[in-house]
Amino acid sequence: MKTYKKVLALLLVVVMSIALFGCASNGNEGPASQSQSNGSSVQSGETEQDETPGGNEAADNGQESEMSESMAKIKESGKIIWGTNAAFPPFEIRRGDDVIGVDAEIAAKIAEKLGVELEVVDMDFEGLINALTSKQIDFIGAGFTIKPDREEQVLFTDTYFKAVQTIIIQEGNTEITKAADLEGKTIGVQSGTTGDFTAKEYTDNIVRFDNALEAAIDLKNGRLDAVIVDDLPAQMIVQENEGLVLLDEKAADDEEYALAVRKGATDLQAVINEVLAELKAGGKIEEWVEEYSFLN
Ligand code: GLN
Repeated sequence: MKTYKKVLALLLVVVMSIALFGCASNGNEGPASQSQSNGSSVQSGETEQDETPGGNEAADNGQESEMSESMAKIKESGKIIWGTNAAFPPFEIRRGDDVIGVDAEIAAKIAEKLGVELEVVDMDFEGLINALTSKQIDFIGAGFTIKPDREEQVLFTDTYFKAVQTIIIQEGNTEITKAADLEGKTIGVQSGTTGDFTAKEYTDNIVRFDNALEAAIDLKNGRLDAVIVDDLPAQMIVQENEGLVLLDEKAADDEEYALAVRKGATDLQAVINEVLAELKAGGKIEEWVEEYSFLN
């Protein structure tokens, strides 16, 4: 009888091992490499949240927890899908078929830590939260600012960068010399960003673009009075566009960037936090900010 039980237990272990690791073995276990996926294939769908199997919500209170659905999907498929909008230098910049930049470096480290391949989906910034909640992507890395209303929909990781909304104007504009002068002006922004929300504080005349670079072109052509965008992209825009300058005064208070996973994916959040802690301790984030701010 005892032997019978032992054999049964052993059999169970073997079966479970196959179930757990069988799929992972044909995944890519080498260093993370990037593969592309077409952002346009991302559709809006159900907005379910991540759940630990069996509705176990104990993952974040130190109890023994089961793997989140996000983590199980990543392990099983052998890849993690990073969602971004690759028009936000130095954090994400499209280079041919690749997306490079600070967030791309961080994303590669996350994939490496998990021992899986990295796939990137380059899409509209405004679609990112829906893409995450409908499980088209596994995490958002997009110079993504922590905001209370976003916190209701996604689970943010630790922060990795401080930013501030900055005002770009045409050189020689004497009408706008401080933030308060934006009152009632025509302001260009990237749709759905914190720049967009900041602009609402000053005016009803907001022109929304897919990315800040497009807004900057309209500013240059005189169709806008100002553009509000995060400080680092703003600096790169004025560097590359003669005739545009930054106001000294900022448009809003400081904000902080973090990555975001699905609610319930606390195990994935913990892995990302570990990666971020290592990168911050090693000074890598600043190094990459420097490196990708001087492209061209
Ligand atoms: N930090 C801004 C936000 O989170 C802009 C991000 C972006 O355009 N990629 O809204």
